[in-house]
Amino acid sequence: MSKIKMITPLVEMDGDEMTRILWKMIKDELLLPYIDLKTEYYDLGLEHRNETNDQVTVDSANATLKYGVAVKCATITPNAARVEEYKLKEMWKSPNGTIRAILDGTVFRAPILVKGIVPYVKNWTKPITIARHAYGDVYKNTEIKVPGKGKAELVFTGEDGKEIRQTIHEFDGEGIIQGIHNTKKSIESFARACFSYAVDTKQDLWFSTKDTISKKYDHTFKDIFQEIYDTEYREKFEALNIEYFYTLIDDAVARVIRSEGGFIWACKNYDGDVMSDMVATAYGDLSMMTSVLVSPSGVYEYEAAHGTVQRHYYKYLKGEKTSTNSIATIFAWTGALNKRGELDNIPELCEFAKRLESACIKTIENGKMTGSLASISTCENPVILDSLGFIKAIKETLENEL
Ligand code: NAP
Ligand code: MG
Repeated sequence: MSKIKMITPLVEMDGDEMTRILWKMIKDELLLPYIDLKTEYYDLGLEHRNETNDQVTVDSANATLKYGVAVKCATITPNAARVEEYKLKEMWKSPNGTIRAILDGTVFRAPILVKGIVPYVKNWTKPITIARHAYGDVYKNTEIKVPGKGKAELVFTGEDGKEIRQTIHEFDGEGIIQGIHNTKKSIESFARACFSYAVDTKQDLWFSTKDTISKKYDHTFKDIFQEIYDTEYREKFEALNIEYFYTLIDDAVARVIRSEGGFIWACKNYDGDVMSDMVATAYGDLSMMTSVLVSPSGVYEYEAAHGTVQRHYYKYLKGEKTSTNSIATIFAWTGALNKRGELDNIPELCEFAKRLESACIKTIENGKMTGSLASISTCENPVILDSLGFIKAIKETLENEL
């Protein structure tokens, strides 16, 4: 079989620790033998970020804007311990934060479902994708611990000096206050990213806030979504026979639990933070969650939802075998290759991505898996494989399919 040719390069962002080890195994075993892989390589490993004063992260994000599709390995977000461990010049910022700021996107997270790993919510037979607004609200707040009696006010001063002033509360003793904000521009980007992703993946879109209580703040989110839907997306949704549906957050929670899944749930920043952890846990395992950043300009960055699996890496460095699950990282590659295939009109590339995904699922369903999956699988006698052994088992399934 001749190798599949590509036209436009993928932006390849390499990363850290155990996922960096898996990255190379995946390329060597599952991609390079079948694809004439074209990538523009950026090494986001912490050492190279440090050498380049983090310029490499900025360059990789700009390359993503240029080419349109990126695939990213998990990376270390430095903290004090990492500054020491890697002798860093500075505590570099989170690469995901830097990339998100440049691409201005929304993050969509979806579980990979396999038979034998049963969600805690039995009726969830299809994946639920959480779209989390990644700007503002309580994550960019200003807070005051009120020391005692006094008046708290909300004041906006316009460029022309005009004030809008409202009383928050007349305190008769100690208390707390908090100021939060969002921008019309960011909410519009969020809405467009959600509607575009729904059209792209042909799934219904649900959106929920607490607009009955937050009559200006949350209501503005609701209004912006509705206006963008009516003016830009309604026809596309109707043509695909998919639905946009707004409801209160508490009603949404109840409906989500009763649903069979198979839709996108758009959430404000805090709701998305909480709900994505709930949904991920209920579907079984963090190592089976995919994540894609979609910018309003139609740029895509695919990655796994988990981190660099540090504890496994230290075992690996000691020469011990690890049983690290590479599924979410493989799906980051297949997501990116499939998108590249769609954009460049290379059906063989899309087909390959689908076959590789199905090989991953079949391998697990046939009882071959990594340790953390075996511990939650209903499979009778699972064969627990090490990191490379699992990738080789997937390769064997793939070869039988091709
Ligand atoms: P983590 O790497 O996701 O790992 C947490 C634990 O979850 C692991 O210790 C492991 O449990 C289990 N796990 C996660 N992925 C797994 C996989 N593929 N296969 C098997 N088990 C898996 O999170 P962390 O330990 O909190 O963070 C480690 C580093 O990753 C940090 O430096 C953090 O900054 C970075 N991080 C990066 C990203 C990103 O780039 N998107 C996201 C999150 C964290 P056991 O040890 O019990 O086996
Ligand atoms: Mg969280």
